[in-house]
Amino acid sequence: FVKEHGGGGVKMYEPGTATKTLERILLENELRKSVQMGHFTLEYQPKMNLYHGELSGVEALVRWNHPDLGRIPPDKFIPIAEETKIILPLGEWILREACKQAYNWQQRGYKPFRIAVNMSAVQLDEPTIVETIQRILTEEKVSPEFIELELTETSFADRVEMRHTIQRIRDIGIQVAIDDFGTGYSTFSYIKELPADILKIDMSFIRDIDVNENSRAIVKAIVTLAATAGLEVIAEGVETEKQANVLIELGCLEGQGYFYSKPLPAEECEFMIPKIDE
Ligand code: C2E
Ligand code: MG
Ligand code: MG
Ligand code: MG
Repeated sequence: FVKEHGGGGVKMYEPGTATKTLERILLENELRKSVQMGHFTLEYQPKMNLYHGELSGVEALVRWNHPDLGRIPPDKFIPIAEETKIILPLGEWILREACKQAYNWQQRGYKPFRIAVNMSAVQLDEPTIVETIQRILTEEKVSPEFIELELTETSFADRVEMRHTIQRIRDIGIQVAIDDFGTGYSTFSYIKELPADILKIDMSFIRDIDVNENSRAIVKAIVTLAATAGLEVIAEGVETEKQANVLIELGCLEGQGYFYSKPLPAEECEFMIPKIDE
């Protein structure tokens, strides 16, 4: 325990709290340095057509490779990057890097497909975000039809400005997916008004889809909803062949998960991408 004397009283701090604060300060500083030094890479996870077993796209996922601390998972540093706004320069780097990879694969004769990039609500809140996205695509010579943005439901929460921004992004020709769909608070009737092209079903519903009737019912409902609203649907976290088969039965024909491939560095992922003349 740390005792703080002053003002006549003695405050007691739990060790956990103090440690967390130090870790937090450390990570914040290291995050800033690493953006400068370029200690980030992207990995790509194939999205598959479950029925034909063909690659239909990839999702780019950022990796932080700290020289001393090793690899730190996104769930640990993305929230800090968001709170500190470090996500703004980092997010620009991520989109640019994904575009460079898209251009590289297209130049080398791979079949064109969409690269999905995760984008935080903090980025969308920037007044110049649409211009920034447009500029990066132009500079990297990538057509908007090959880029998809994955946004979580919080980005669609009933903030008119945010939804307006998302619509402007779609007007450019970029596809928009709602990530982790089903975990937020969007009511089903509300979906019709959301400016999105794709629903990405959260992996919590996929995990027990072969044994849990409720999960199956939820997935079935989302698939029906997507069809009614004219949206594409994809399942995340497909880990077994059984899950893939249940998804096909329920009419969800796109999926992504460890059963097909974990996220991989570009040069490993490209073995799964068909070439134009094959
Ligand atoms: P997400 O966008 O929902 O990404 C899916 C996460 O599930 C990824 O974790 C992926 O590696 C993992 N995953 C894929 N297949 C399976 C599977 O079959 N089973 C299980 N259990 N997990 C699977 P990752 O890469 O650690 O990313 C975690 C989250 O961090 C992402 O969730 C996203 O919210 C955020 N994130 C990752 N990269 C970026 C980025 O470039 N920008 C932003 N803003 N956020 C990112
Ligand atoms: Mg995602
Ligand atoms: Mg997700
Ligand atoms: Mg997630």
